[in-house]
Formats: sequence, C-alpha cells, structure tokens
Amino acid sequence: MNTDQLKNEQIHIIPTNGNGNSKDILPPNEKIALIEQKFKEIMQILGLDLSDDSLKDTPRRVAKMYVNETFSGLLPENAPAITLFDNKYNYSEMLIEKNIPVYSCCEHHFVPIIGKVHIGYISGGKVIGLSKLNRVVNYFAKRPQVQERLTVQIAEYLKKVLGTENVAVIMEAEHLCVASRGIRDIGCTTITSSYHGIFLTSDKRKEFNQQVKA
Ligand SMILES: [Zn+2]
Repeated sequence: MNTDQLKNEQIHIIPTNGNGNSKDILPPNEKIALIEQKFKEIMQILGLDLSDDSLKDTPRRVAKMYVNETFSGLLPENAPAITLFDNKYNYSEMLIEKNIPVYSCCEHHFVPIIGKVHIGYISGGKVIGLSKLNRVVNYFAKRPQVQERLTVQIAEYLKKVLGTENVAVIMEAEHLCVASRGIRDIGCTTITSSYHGIFLTSDKRKEFNQQVKA
C-alpha cells in the first residue's frame, strides 16, 4: 500500500475500563510504593526471608511489573492511539489478522492466561494499521480478566474505532489456574467468540472460522 496516497487519521478513544471501579485511581508511583509494601507483607506472612539477596528486591519488582506491565491496561491513558486510513482501494472483503499472541491474567487467581486472538473485520470506509490490532488486544489483556469479557471488550472497541458493526473476534487460551493448580488439566483450551454485524450471518461467520482454522 502506498501510504502517501492515504489520508490517515489518528484517533484516541479513551475506553471505560469495564473492570470494576476506575474512580480515585492513584498515580502509578504511589501504586508501586503501596503494592511493594503490601507484597513484602505477603512474603513475610509466607515465612520468606526478605534479607536473602535473591528475595529482597522481589516486592519492588512485582509492584513495578503489576503497574507497568501485567495491569498496565487499567490506566486509560495507556489506550493505544489508533491510526485509520481511508479505504481508497475499495477493499470490500474481510480482513483477518490471526494468531495475535495474548498474555493476560485470570482475575480469580491472578495467574496467567496465555493464548491467541483472531480478529476479522470488513471496512465501513476506514482501514486500521495492522499492528494496532495487536495493540488493542494487548491493552485489554493487561488487566485482571475473564476470557469472555476480554473477547467482548476487543470486539466492542474495534467496532467503535472502525465505525462498523462488521467485526468478529475469536480467542483461544490456556488458563494456568486450570493447568497448574486445582484440577491440573494441561492442554485444555478455552475458546470464546464475539460476532457482530455481517458476521452474524452464517456465510461470513463460516468464512471467518475457516480462515482462522486454516
Ligand atoms: Zn483462574
């Protein structure tokens, strides 16, 4: 594609979190300091020796990881800026971006959810920079999540930014709360989907599913 010919448009929709109360959010540095202190207490309660070289910086490391990485999607200012282009070449078929890696965190056990997301959409006049699809997935994944909500949040956000109902999302993932504890079922995959607009018709849904499986 010749990007010079395209008029691009930067949009930045600040989504509501949809993950509990987003009011009275502390600044990131205050969050890190407080989590560090609380995580230190958890480690002490577990009987760990915090004077040990290997453990002494763990509370700080965990606090920074939670705020800056694992749960960075709780901060609306981390929502990705989306670049849209006019669909000047009148591409009217579906676009599919598949196997987008996803690393999220189960909100019930605070252990990883690891999987892939497949996105399909049919342009309503605008096309999106492809890497932005990955960024949208990542933004909503970096929160305490359940897979059903994550799938729907990605679809709803894309509908809003693309200005079209014609969006489909499939997510397949392994939940380490199932694989590594409790029932310990390794290799068990959870699949969720969110179909909208034209993807609600059986033809387009089938085409999307076939391409994803291919
Ligand atoms: Zn869980």
